[in-house]
Amino acid sequence: MVGLAAGITFAPQDVPNRFWVLSAVCSVIPDADIIAFSFDIPYQHLFGHRGFFHAPFFGILLSIFIVLIFFGDREMFSKQWFFYLIFFFLLSASHGILDAFTNGGLGIALLSPFDKTRYFFPWRPIMVSPIGVIPFFSKWGLAVIKSELLWVWLSSFLMVITSAVIRVMASRH
Ligand SMILES: [Zn+2]
Repeated sequence: MVGLAAGITFAPQDVPNRFWVLSAVCSVIPDADIIAFSFDIPYQHLFGHRGFFHAPFFGILLSIFIVLIFFGDREMFSKQWFFYLIFFFLLSASHGILDAFTNGGLGIALLSPFDKTRYFFPWRPIMVSPIGVIPFFSKWGLAVIKSELLWVWLSSFLMVITSAVIRVMASRH
């Protein structure tokens, strides 16, 4: 939802289909780090859950990778090339930042790999999700869905509506 809303809000009209798929991937891929638990890598480890892969630095690496692999047909350093680079970076970084608004688990290693400190924002309205699929089908899971609908989906939706209104108003002038 975050990827889709950001794309609708900021992307130029002629983006290819792969843009939408990559946007969705970028906003959720940091959570692939839960695989660390199966390798006995502890939560607080550099490569543990909410560690390196949740840091904006990883977002930089990911966006460079995406632009080189999937947008290699764009002229390097062109306006469009920079748009994709910055867009995918911000989207990947937004995941860790949104997680820092959640009310449980360990904090996010936002400065990883330079500093292993885990961070949370002082205000944490988003209910943290249980880890794993089975625990999600519970009262807790339902509360998470409600909380995400309110804080993430509603904000994303408002962003899309606001941008649409701004576009319509701008086109009238
Ligand atoms: Zn996460």
